[in-house]
Amino acid sequence: MSKVVKFGGSSLASAEQFEKVGSIIRAEAERRFVVPSAPGKRFSADTKVTDMLYGCYALAEADKDFSKELKAIKARYEEIIKGLKLKLSLDDEFVTIEKNFKEKAGKDYAASRGEYLNGIIMANYLGFEFIDSATVIFFNEDGTFNANKTNDVLSKRLEGLQNAVVPGFYGAYDNGKVKTFSRGGSDITGSIVAKAIHADVYENWTDVSGCLVTDPRIVKNPQKIDIITYRELRELAYMGASVLHEDAIFPVRQEGIPINIRNTNDPGNSGTWIVGSTGQKSKYVITGIAGKKGFCSINIEKDMMNSEVGFGRKVLQAFEESNISFEHLPSGIDTMTVFVHQDEFMDKEQKVVSTIQRLAKPDTIDIESDLALIAVVGRGMRATRGTAARIFSALAHAHINIKMIDQGSSEMNIIIGVANDDFENAIKAIYDIFVETCL
Ligand code: ASP
Repeated sequence: MSKVVKFGGSSLASAEQFEKVGSIIRAEAERRFVVPSAPGKRFSADTKVTDMLYGCYALAEADKDFSKELKAIKARYEEIIKGLKLKLSLDDEFVTIEKNFKEKAGKDYAASRGEYLNGIIMANYLGFEFIDSATVIFFNEDGTFNANKTNDVLSKRLEGLQNAVVPGFYGAYDNGKVKTFSRGGSDITGSIVAKAIHADVYENWTDVSGCLVTDPRIVKNPQKIDIITYRELRELAYMGASVLHEDAIFPVRQEGIPINIRNTNDPGNSGTWIVGSTGQKSKYVITGIAGKKGFCSINIEKDMMNSEVGFGRKVLQAFEESNISFEHLPSGIDTMTVFVHQDEFMDKEQKVVSTIQRLAKPDTIDIESDLALIAVVGRGMRATRGTAARIFSALAHAHINIKMIDQGSSEMNIIIGVANDDFENAIKAIYDIFVETCL
């Protein structure tokens, strides 16, 4: 059995956190491959090393003195090395980094040093081999991830190794120039390593005990999700729930490797399992609730719309011509409504409206802004009667007007549109009816 264990920045922010991570890794010999992030915040007003590196490199790029900033970054690592009582010096590494900053090695190179240096410390601390991700993770010339080459090189490199540390967040182009994933990208590295070694589990250690049923900023202490499918997670993540980088799902999903989200500060908690499919029912019929504010709806009416072939295409063409993607498209006999992101739409509003007029010749077009969309997601809905009824009665009791309802054909989610002002109360009401009443 082999596990890949990825630790986030807050799990590696200080020597004390490193010690917790060390005990977690040593507790199970299966935890063979370790993917560290850069040191994160030690306390809420602290700065992540990645942000310090971006700031420091911005000075270097502007030909300003960056010695003070680089020293502060070095101090973060030295504090960890000292706290762990390691015989390790990063002096030579910092000489190289300073030289490369002066030679303008690039923003990505700068940011990647956070994980690179933390990886060196981690490898030294655990007695594991260090593998520079720039030699095993590759990007295409257009900046996209080169999955095939990476999998070939990485799997060969890890073959036969009992343990290794592979820093997260970065790789390189074929010419060796360092390139990072987007922010939070160490999650992706963990997934790529798990795929390369055909891991049994990808453990992703963070500072929360897994995914929660809903946003803790809206509902106090929401219940944890024990098990969720990749598809459910994707639906919730799209609607704003964040626990994992969204691209981290794809490499392990192809291999059917489950992800286990765990809490470094509460290792006894089994966390959340993210799996391809499961026969296990979720405790509350629904798996999670997530949502976002800031949508607007374009309501289009035309008599006899139902019999006009091509009407929908013409309307959507107007959005396409302005490069706006739509979110939902509920329709009636003589009406059609298009939901879009308000911030993408507002600048182009009049252009879209006139294009709809020109192409589709509707009777009226009416725009409503400041709407929120809420996704109620759950694989259990399919087999359960009354889910929609419970959502609607909860919202009615909370005096919330529903502006839109959309149930996908997968029957795995129901999307509700409400006014922005009703957003928080709507989520609370839905949470209460499914979770609180079941406790
Ligand atoms: N250190 C990088 C960031 O702060 C990547 C990561 O932690 O996943 O975004």
